[in-house]
Amino acid sequence: MEPVKSPGGVPPFGYQWNIAEKHLEVNKWERNIVLLIFKYALKDNLSPYNIAKSLNKYNLNSSRKGKLWTYKSVSYLFAPSRIDFYAGYQHDQKGSWEPIITSSMAAELKKKNIVTKTGSRPHKNKYLLTGGIAHCGYCQGHIKSAYYKSAASINAYYYCSTRSVYGKDKCPDSKTIIQGIADNIVIQTIKAQVQNLNNIQKWTAKYYSQQARDISSKVNEIDTKISSLLKGLNSIKSIDGVSKANKEIADLLAQKEKLLNLKLDRFDFNKLLAARNIEKKNIDQQKELLSSIIKKLDLFGDKIVIEFPFVISSQGSSKLEKEF
Ligand SMILES: [Zn+2]
Repeated sequence: MEPVKSPGGVPPFGYQWNIAEKHLEVNKWERNIVLLIFKYALKDNLSPYNIAKSLNKYNLNSSRKGKLWTYKSVSYLFAPSRIDFYAGYQHDQKGSWEPIITSSMAAELKKKNIVTKTGSRPHKNKYLLTGGIAHCGYCQGHIKSAYYKSAASINAYYYCSTRSVYGKDKCPDSKTIIQGIADNIVIQTIKAQVQNLNNIQKWTAKYYSQQARDISSKVNEIDTKISSLLKGLNSIKSIDGVSKANKEIADLLAQKEKLLNLKLDRFDFNKLLAARNIEKKNIDQQKELLSSIIKKLDLFGDKIVIEFPFVISSQGSSKLEKEF
């Protein structure tokens, strides 16, 4: 069998053209990086994302132009055809180039079944928590979705938008969160609130009346202060003293007006009731329901924190934490 001379196009990372001799030769610097990438995967079990991060941290750039590695450019190296190439084979034929890895290492890499293919999102709008519904619990950045495909499965994730520059973490604590798990936790949490609607209405009403009592007692306090200031006005002799007292009264009146105008934001519980079969609705309806039921939703690496515009416990809390 005639050995394969060379593949066409740009040489794979790790190789370069020898123009004089018209064949592919190993680029020693790049070869070391290829070996490091495979060691990270095999010995340290790092994902392509974390491999890219490590390489960028040590300035082991992906090209001579100084480009940063991305999970995509790292994962290309794990395509079965690329692994074969590094072992010196193409289309099951021995090539004429010097291998970078042994055949047994190639077999080991293929067995690991690391993400080998990246692609566009199959269902663009299937992410429940994007579009401003969720925020990063560490930096309040927007939550974005990511998608990639391995030989074995399709993986959809959420991540903090400020983490998008690979290896240059702006939000170092943020983690990649599996979309299916996060969405399910949120849906189940909402359904649990619907189940508890009677209690929630009771607790919320108690909170509202407490709040109303607090407001009226504060208003009474202000009224008392104002009337004593008014009584004292006649006995003030200096002009400065009078204008100071007038200023104090004006401030108190403004405070009182603010308190009286404080509209209690009464939650319409029909919105919560509408979510009783939320999982059966389409994604747009689910998102709309969520944004009307939830005040705030933060994603952390290990938990989701949801804040509601109503009271969800007998202790008067409106917040709930759910661990992954
Ligand atoms: Zn963040």
